[in-house]
Amino acid sequence: MEKIRGKEHREKILQEKIRQHYEKNTILAVPKIEEREFGVGSFEKKIAKRHMYFSDEGKLNSYLKRAAPFYISYSTAYYKEPEKQPMDKKGFLGADIVYEFDSTDFVLKCRNKHDFYKCLDCGKTETGFAEKCIHCSSSRLLRYDFICPECLERVKIETYKLLDVLTNDFGISPRNFSLNYSGNRGYHIHLRDKEIFSLDENARLELLNYLALNDFDLSLGGFNFFDNRAPKPYEKSIAGKLVREAIIFLQNTKPEKLSEYTGVGLKRAKNILAKSFNLTKPLQEGRLPRIKEKDFWKNFFLSLKQDLSVNLDYQTSKDIKKLIRHPDTIHVGTMFLAKRFKNLDSFDPLTDAVAFRDREVKTEIKRMPRLFLLGNYYGPYKNKTINLPEALFLLLLSKDLVKSFEYF
Ligand SMILES: [Zn+2]
Ligand SMILES: [Zn+2]
Repeated sequence: MEKIRGKEHREKILQEKIRQHYEKNTILAVPKIEEREFGVGSFEKKIAKRHMYFSDEGKLNSYLKRAAPFYISYSTAYYKEPEKQPMDKKGFLGADIVYEFDSTDFVLKCRNKHDFYKCLDCGKTETGFAEKCIHCSSSRLLRYDFICPECLERVKIETYKLLDVLTNDFGISPRNFSLNYSGNRGYHIHLRDKEIFSLDENARLELLNYLALNDFDLSLGGFNFFDNRAPKPYEKSIAGKLVREAIIFLQNTKPEKLSEYTGVGLKRAKNILAKSFNLTKPLQEGRLPRIKEKDFWKNFFLSLKQDLSVNLDYQTSKDIKKLIRHPDTIHVGTMFLAKRFKNLDSFDPLTDAVAFRDREVKTEIKRMPRLFLLGNYYGPYKNKTINLPEALFLLLLSKDLVKSFEYF
């Protein structure tokens, strides 16, 4: 077996695999490649060099084969002369919008199962996610983060919410979206619509506020909790959508959830739901059914509003000068593909974004949580030698969790 001899050795193996991938596969370039700025990354820094430019897809692909970069990103903006610097010399023409979702934006229980960290002060290794070492409170932690079907599913739900608003509220045709897996913990939604092209940062911020429902006020939307009035469900507005969602919710929910949403006790929630028809009928007609608890409906609709709001990273979503991972290229942090796909329902990153899938590698593992890949669970393993699918070996290698290995 071949021993891993430090960081440079590790990077050399990973880069060789990346090169092989680009030698075998031609990457489909993003639209208008000649107007985009490109940037490439080192192992530590996702963008180490920028202001690069490729005149066409052929040039991009020959660069990938030659340089095999650890990360490659392109500008959401279009420029007259993308390679010029500083930024204001480029001649800004317009920009797409790319919304990013990442599983670390959510509180997820599964992270306590698959993430772990090593404390650089006391040297102990501990399972789970923590801001500080639970043994010595140090914040100098070496983190090992992983993904699983559960966290990826949570990000998918957020992506669904976004797509729903974009298609139904804004009328943007799905033809103008491009859906991408980020290659690690999330999804990127690229919007390339001519209406969006010329929006400035303020207009982009307004869009974000709309998606997050920040400026939406229940009483301005037509709810009146004193007179028990509600907007009609067919109204083409956020308020109307809330009522539609409310009807579906009340027909399907469990008492536990209603109790959580409204603050009434579990037994009371059960009683209320037992006559759900008495709730949904008035809502259909624009009335709030009488419930004796004073803030029942207000709490209920505030919780529901929270459900409908899209949880987005403001800074990156409004930024018109940012670089974002080029679709279908390798992400060295996982060795998965930042994969472009069509159907959110059927896309499964832990199968569809796996680049290296044909071989097995005998791997001496330092430590690995239980992981799901290509339809199977593996591990957990600690100081163990075992045959792994190549993709899993490369994932562990990128995280410095392999002691030695042998290809078959
Ligand atoms: Zn410690
Ligand atoms: Zn998870």
